[in-house]
Amino acid sequence: MLKAVLFDLDNTLVHFDESRFFDEYMRLLAPGFADLWPVETFRRRLIASVRALLDNDGTDTNHDRFMNHFCAGIDVSPEMIQSRFLRFYRSDFHDLKRLVTVPAGNRRLIEELRRRSLMIVIASNPVWPLDVQNIRLGWAGLDGFPFDRITHSGNTHFCKPRMAYYSEICRELNLAPESCLMVGNDPVNDMVVAEIGMRTYWVRVPGTDDGLPLSRELRKGEAAAVFVPDGSGPLDGIPDTVNRLLRTAGGRAGRKENTKTP
Ligand SMILES: [Mg+2]
Repeated sequence: MLKAVLFDLDNTLVHFDESRFFDEYMRLLAPGFADLWPVETFRRRLIASVRALLDNDGTDTNHDRFMNHFCAGIDVSPEMIQSRFLRFYRSDFHDLKRLVTVPAGNRRLIEELRRRSLMIVIASNPVWPLDVQNIRLGWAGLDGFPFDRITHSGNTHFCKPRMAYYSEICRELNLAPESCLMVGNDPVNDMVVAEIGMRTYWVRVPGTDDGLPLSRELRKGEAAAVFVPDGSGPLDGIPDTVNRLLRTAGGRAGRKENTKTP
C-alpha cells in the first residue's frame, strides 16, 4: 500500500541552473572566509568536504562529518567556522532566490497528495542544515507545510545516491520502501532507490537539467544502476502515477535496465 511520497527539491520542486547557482553561492560566501583561504582554495575545500559525506559510515551526522572534514588541519575553532556559515545563511544567502523559478502547481500537488492521507517527505540531498532547507522550501512556495520529514545535515548520516540514505528515512518513519514513491529529476541520485523496492517517478521538464553537473562531480566514482521509473513527466503527472500505484499495491517495482552511470 502506498503510504508516502518523497520529493527531491532541487530541479524538482524548485528550478535553477545548478552551475550558475553554485558559482553565485561561492561568490557570495567566499569573502566571509577570505582571511583563511583564497577563493579557489576555499572552493576546493568545500567541495571536498561535501564529497566526504559520501563516505560517511553512519557514525556521525552529515553536519558533524562535514565540519570535521572542513576544519581539519586549520588552527581555527569549528565554532567560529560554523558561525560564519550561519551568518551567511541569515544574510546574503537569501539573495540567491533571484536565480530560482517555481514550477506551477507544486504546492497544490502536495496538498492534494496530503488530502489522500499520504505522508509527504522532503528528500533533498542532506548537505544543508535545516534552516537552509527551510529557506529553500520557502523559495519553492512550500513554507509552513507540515512535512512528515525534511532531510538535512543534522538528521541524516548518509547522502544520495547511497541506499543507506533512503533506508534511514524509511526506518525513521517506520515505512517499507515498497510503500514509498520517490519523486525526483536525477536519474541516479533519485531513481536508484528502486534497487530497494521503492517506487519512482522521474520528473522531466523540457529545458531543465536532469543529472546536473555538480551532482555528477560530487558522486564521481559512484557507480549506480539505472532503473525504469514507475512514471515520468512533469509534476502534474504524479497524481495519475499515485492512483495507479494505489490500485496496484504490491505490484512489481521498477525493472533494472542497465548498470551504467549516465
Ligand atoms: Mg534534484
